[in-house]
Amino acid sequence: MSPENIKELNKKPLLVGGPVIYLMSKDIRVKNNPSLMYAQRLALENKLELKVYFNLYADLSVRSYQHFAFMIKGIEEVSVKLAKLNIPLVVSTSSEKDFLTELRKNKPCILILDHSSLKHARKKQQRVAERLDCKVVTCDGRNIIPVWYLSDKEEHSARTIRPKINKLLPLFIYKNEIPAFHSYNKQGDKNLINCNKLLANVKAKHLTDYKPQIIPGEDAALDVLGRFVNLKLDIYQETRSDPTKESTSLLSAYLHFGMISPLTIYNTVKDMDNNAAFIEELVVRRELADNYCYNNHNYDNLKGAKDWAQKTLAKHLSDRREFVYELQEFESASTHDKAWNAAQTQMLRTGFMHGYMRMYWCKKILEWSSSAETAIQTAIYLNDKYQLDGLDSNGYAGIMWSITGIHDRPWFEREVYGSIRYMNFNGLKRKFNIDSYISKWLPKQS
Ligand code: FAD
Repeated sequence: MSPENIKELNKKPLLVGGPVIYLMSKDIRVKNNPSLMYAQRLALENKLELKVYFNLYADLSVRSYQHFAFMIKGIEEVSVKLAKLNIPLVVSTSSEKDFLTELRKNKPCILILDHSSLKHARKKQQRVAERLDCKVVTCDGRNIIPVWYLSDKEEHSARTIRPKINKLLPLFIYKNEIPAFHSYNKQGDKNLINCNKLLANVKAKHLTDYKPQIIPGEDAALDVLGRFVNLKLDIYQETRSDPTKESTSLLSAYLHFGMISPLTIYNTVKDMDNNAAFIEELVVRRELADNYCYNNHNYDNLKGAKDWAQKTLAKHLSDRREFVYELQEFESASTHDKAWNAAQTQMLRTGFMHGYMRMYWCKKILEWSSSAETAIQTAIYLNDKYQLDGLDSNGYAGIMWSITGIHDRPWFEREVYGSIRYMNFNGLKRKFNIDSYISKWLPKQS
């Protein structure tokens, strides 16, 4: 890790004596986790205890039960790995207030947090930094190049951020890192995580019944990466836009929960043939999405669009719409369009929708909603509730790209869309065998 990964959230002193505490949240992994590496480095330098906490906010109403199940299994795996390194992981489900009290009791030397560019997380972190007496820092383990270092403004598009990434990337590519055995901790502290109890705690509040196609955890993420590199990387460039080929990496949920570092993925593919299109998505598009959310607090509403887009969407607000659906009709995949219903069904059943279909899915939500603002809210609600990789900068940027043209340019003007880029069913037909996709997800209707 590099010192640029770390950002101070307050100006308070290190209270040397108490333990170094790392509050894990976004980065549920041991390998290439800059917060953990920094925490251990400080603890070793000062001969201090090192403790890891995870406080699960089970009341986050936007998520489904499967998100929590996926996350909790990942935490369980991390706890076992940390136990082998003599580092205790304490998992709780306290309110923010009670959790702060618990932290204070430890009299930490420093509190280290995982960075998130999303506003609810940033506000919460700022409150913690104000209320604790010790230094509080956040570490960016979400991006390869820390979001605050890559650019100090909202970037226009991939075209403007790409040269910055190309210039800085070599500075942030380091060999894979894992923490050492922590001998300054008392031996024998067991990391007992009762997954079933934690799951029971969230089950009642967040029921949905899809079955993720991927297994949670850091080891599973590495397996998925291995399979992708061996079987799909070579054909990724030609086939990634064809949902019937299923040739993309399926790493997004692991990346979202921080079960794998983008650096681990980058280090694995960087010397391979035919890696350019994949690296473009993994690094350029992914870091562009985070740059957007970090620098534009309206990433989840129409005010987050560029002026030209707000104007064109306002001009076409009262255009007649051939179809207007309510949230419940979208949610239950009951539109007139089989391709859209198939995409929605893929997401409802598996917690994942193929990337190309996500664009079509979201653009049609714009076309069939009473306004662009309603469309944004519908898309965010469905995306964050069902996609296992939802509640992520990539999701907000993808939705705002589809509905408001961020990182894109104005296209030909037409009804409802104005000059926002349009997609239609015939476009899908031209690109791949859409009937095969429909019959996979809607066998009875095809
Ligand atoms: P791959 O094609 O294998 O790509 C590798 C990784 O690169 C992905 O895992 C992802 O982290 C990143 N990536 C790929 N495409 C993009 C992109 N366009 N923008 C930013 N990063 C990208 N991605 C999410 O992670 N969470 C979301 O909630 C999400 N919602 C989206 C909603 C809409 C409307 C759109 C248009 C896109 C959304 N995306 C989202 C981006 C993209 O569709 C998914 O990341 C991708 O389909 C995940 O599949 P994969 O891991 O097999 O991707």
